[in-house]
Amino acid sequence: MARILQRVRREGAVDLEAAEFYVRSAVLALGATVLERLLDDVGIGRQGDPRLCAHHHPPRRMDSRGVREKTLQTVLGPVRFARSRYVCPQCGAVEYPGDTLLGVAGTGVSPGLRRLMTRAGARESFGEAAEDLHVYGAIEVDAKAVERVAETTGRLIDDWMKTEASAAVLGVRRPGDSNDPIPILYVALDGTGAPMRPDELKGVRGKGEDGKAKTREVKLGCVFTQTTLDEEGNPRRDPHSTSYVGAIESSSDFGHRLSQEAVRRGRKRAEQTVVLSDGAEYNAAIAREHFPTAIHILDFYHASERLSQFVKDHTAHPAQGPFHKQCYALLDEGRIEELLERMRQEAPCRGLKRKTALKRIAYFDERKDQMRYAAFRQAGFFVGSGVIEAGCKTLIGKRLKQSGMFWSVAGANAIIAARCCIYSGRFEQFWEDTGS
Ligand SMILES: [Zn+2]
Repeated sequence: MARILQRVRREGAVDLEAAEFYVRSAVLALGATVLERLLDDVGIGRQGDPRLCAHHHPPRRMDSRGVREKTLQTVLGPVRFARSRYVCPQCGAVEYPGDTLLGVAGTGVSPGLRRLMTRAGARESFGEAAEDLHVYGAIEVDAKAVERVAETTGRLIDDWMKTEASAAVLGVRRPGDSNDPIPILYVALDGTGAPMRPDELKGVRGKGEDGKAKTREVKLGCVFTQTTLDEEGNPRRDPHSTSYVGAIESSSDFGHRLSQEAVRRGRKRAEQTVVLSDGAEYNAAIAREHFPTAIHILDFYHASERLSQFVKDHTAHPAQGPFHKQCYALLDEGRIEELLERMRQEAPCRGLKRKTALKRIAYFDERKDQMRYAAFRQAGFFVGSGVIEAGCKTLIGKRLKQSGMFWSVAGANAIIAARCCIYSGRFEQFWEDTGS
């Protein structure tokens, strides 16, 4: 302390900024020394019970074979860690009990630093994350290291979230879990494309004219609750009640993931469950299979877009003209049978044009019960899936769809899991639970 003060004072007039950074680096270096001393007591010496090699029945006793040193990257900088090495005389397996004790088995990065690297790497590009860690924390790691740690931890987060959700399904309760009924529980789902490496796109059909896919669909779901209406009688999402799950995976896997998350969020206590979707066919399949008693609402905006498309492509009427307005009003009121009739009247009379027009009309016919908008509003439900669309933009798009980014499925899924965890406000809980 005295030495640091002396050094800062010697510079003459206090340059506060220079002093801040100088003092920080001095304090970090001091901290690293303290940490190193602390670790001296951990890695070496009697480990209590004898170490046993699990590769044999009965387990074989391992021998202590000296001390090995490794450098740990920590939030205070690099720290040397000397720990006893155990070897199995029979199969040669090597173990470092000290590593297990500190949570650094198979890694040179401390848990504290892994936490910062994962958070930063999930929030911004790995390069930016490395830069921010340097600027904000005087932490020297490169983009590759951030990537490795964020992805490894992201996979652990994915496992943890799955375990938590399936535990909830089995009825395991967490301390602090509520028993209160939930008036309305919403489950919303949507998808968005993420740019992939070419080798991850084999066998994936594309939307483009050449039929080649450049992206794969990230499926994102969220669960939130609604207890009250605002002064104007509009539904109000309960603050901090939104949790997210998502992945690049089959719709059947995603259906299970979303359904388990809904259970974790208290679906069994919900007086009413509402599924909000954009009308994609697999959404309806998920709703049917996993939420058979829920009210399924097709996002009003999507439905009205479909209607505009129909008017434009299949009728002679102008957009926003009287016919369009009339149809819009019918849709808005959920009078779908009347809407279908009007659409059929105006559809082309014959030929291929009629065929495609009827297909577009069938879209509405098949989903009419998801479009009873007046009744939904009357019941105080949300009729828009804005929450999940915003989620697709911020949670997925902002991080995964930056120019020049190409993902592997495993890499993308790890980062998606980490982001879902962060945006659901569960990141701290993960570290607390897993002691990772
Ligand atoms: Zn062995």
